[in-house]
Amino acid sequence: MKDPVTRRQPEHLLLIGGGHAHVAVLADWIRNGLPCDRATILTPSSHLRYSGTVPGWISGHYARDEGLVDVAGLARRAGATFHEGRCSRIEPDARMVETDTGERIEFDIASLDTGGVGQARDVLGEDPRLVDVRPIQNFVERIDTLGPSRRIAVIGGGAGGVELAFALRNRSADERGPDVILVSGEAGLLPDFSKSVRKAVEKQLSKQLISLMKQDAHITAGGLYAGRTSLEPVDTIIAALGSGAPDWVKESGLATDEAGFAAVDRHQRSTSHAHIFAVGDVASRQDRNVPHSGVHAVFAGPVLAANLRAVMAGQEPRDTYRPRWSNLYLMSTGDGRAIASYGPLCAKGRWVSRLKHFIDMRWLRKYAVLAGGSG
Ligand SMILES: Cc1cc2nc3c(=O)[nH]c(=O)nc-3n(C[C@H](O)[C@H](O)[C@H](O)COP(=O)(O)OP(=O)(O)OC[C@H]3O[C@@H](n4cnc5c(N)ncnc54)[C@H](O)[C@@H]3O)c2cc1C
Repeated sequence: MKDPVTRRQPEHLLLIGGGHAHVAVLADWIRNGLPCDRATILTPSSHLRYSGTVPGWISGHYARDEGLVDVAGLARRAGATFHEGRCSRIEPDARMVETDTGERIEFDIASLDTGGVGQARDVLGEDPRLVDVRPIQNFVERIDTLGPSRRIAVIGGGAGGVELAFALRNRSADERGPDVILVSGEAGLLPDFSKSVRKAVEKQLSKQLISLMKQDAHITAGGLYAGRTSLEPVDTIIAALGSGAPDWVKESGLATDEAGFAAVDRHQRSTSHAHIFAVGDVASRQDRNVPHSGVHAVFAGPVLAANLRAVMAGQEPRDTYRPRWSNLYLMSTGDGRAIASYGPLCAKGRWVSRLKHFIDMRWLRKYAVLAGGSG
């Protein structure tokens, strides 16, 4: 079957963003061959930083670059072109993207896995002490060069904010780490997790003397507040506020949800443009709720790979990513222990941290081997 719009066989497949799902697509190409004559991946960095190991790096359990996936190496092994650059504009009807350096790349079929953007300044306001967790590579570079802090505020009560609060509290090699305040906002701590997990996390926060504030944070007249309470003096403000939609997606003419994320159907295909796919944090499934998290981006990867293979062969996509009723979340508490959450179940201890290490390292090793490293 030919492309219904151009009436010709699609030739050039463009992956935009080297995110968690696209590395699974590259893995599929290494194992099963390229689905077309020409495939390109456009992404700003040769490596993907796996967010799961970032809190462990901050608390001193991993080396800085232990959580990297060699996207350029995977592309090379797959026979795809690695194009270093950042998409700044997409014209879906013209089938063209423009990069931040003004290059133009044409495509027949494109897939977006660029993640979301930081929202710190939009939500909190301007402040030189503000460090956004997104993009995660910039976050790592900022933390790496950050001098010692006496008092840090982490804004965001999701799993990322919780893990970072624990990690920063345990950052210093000294016995007494920096004072850490976790500001969860009015949505409260871990709103998507069970009561038992919330209780275990609150207990651990209190044990490690991390203050928890359940008001919304804002920066007003140069001061950080939780509701009406001033949190000053604070040296560093970490914003872990969840993903925002990139402007170039909002402005593209692609169908989006209310927040501006690319609206996709159950095959991860744009609801407005059949030749464009999107996955991970940049996408918004319209048939069901799929939260923005690394777990879903990882599991949707093989489904996307199968659907891209189908459309490049001129067929309709058939595969659907169906999230399990619950996923295992493992949150490090920075002290060599971790808390596990699975539906209503909760477990904690050193063995949970060992399990997290095993799962994270297995995932990273798989890609290191595929990219041609030793793993
Ligand atoms: C500190 C922290 C800890 C976390 N821990 C967990 C966890 O334990 N479990 C979990 O499930 N989730 C976790 N998350 C959330 C998780 O990181 C994201 O949900 C996940 O990274 C989304 O994957 P993705 O493939 O959509 O995008 P990303 O992983 O963000 O990858 C996107 C890629 O695209 C590239 N890119 C960005 N913009 C462009 C552009 N314009 N053009 C081309 N390429 C571009 C980026 O450089 C990057 O390589 C955590 C987040 C943080 C901040």
